[in-house]
Order: sequence, then C-alpha cells, then structure tokens
Amino acid sequence: MSTPAPTRGQAFWWGFTKRCARCGSGHLFTGYLKIVPECPRCGLHFEREQGYWAGALAINIMATGGLFTLVFVVLLIATIPKVPVAPLLLVLVPIAALGPIVYYPFSKTVWVAVDRAFLQRLDPNEPTDRHR
Ligand SMILES: [Zn+2]
Repeated sequence: MSTPAPTRGQAFWWGFTKRCARCGSGHLFTGYLKIVPECPRCGLHFEREQGYWAGALAINIMATGGLFTLVFVVLLIATIPKVPVAPLLLVLVPIAALGPIVYYPFSKTVWVAVDRAFLQRLDPNEPTDRHR
C-alpha cells in the first residue's frame, strides 16, 4: 500500500504545524520537546543518521534570530531617536532566551520537511522503514 507523496507545500505546512512531512500525522512528540523515533502512522524514521538534527538547530537559529532582528529593527525604527533601552530589553531578552525553546519542536518537523523536499527524493513508492 502506498499513499501519494505530498507536494512540497503540503510537506512544509505539515512541518510548520508539527506534523509528519510524509503523511501529515500529528502526535509526534512525547511531552513538548521529545520527538518520537518514528511516525506513528507511516513509520518514517526521523533521525536518519547521527547528527541529523543539526539541520533543525540551524533552522531554529535562523527562525528565532530572524524574529529577534525583526522585532529589534521595528522597535528601533518606531522609537528612534529616544530609544527606551530597558523596555526594549524586556521584549528582546525573552525572545532570545525563550524563542529557541518554544520553537524547538517546530524546528525539528520543519527540518524533516526541508530534508524530504529538497535533500531526498519524494518517492511515493519508497518503503516505510518501520519494519526494517
Ligand atoms: Zn508519517
């Protein structure tokens, strides 16, 4: 049995919503931060090789760093020339400190989507790897 491969847009949407990039299944996390080894529906094994999650780390840094920079620049432009440093820090420090933690599970599913959309072939007939 094989299901049609998702389009790149579909795979990304599933990644951004913490779902499996191959089948769209949710329930991929035990607790907030720990991803299950395989998709409970299609059996996709997420950590393909040692160091695989370095891509998720890079995505997390880009996303939270991008948000930090965007908020910083908008607040700077809105308040220049009298930049209120303390209130600015009250907004920016939590983004820098908590952003990577909040975004952590999303960075993993987005990375799986990037990996599947651009680094692997989207082969609808690929075998599931649950029973390897
Ligand atoms: Zn799946």
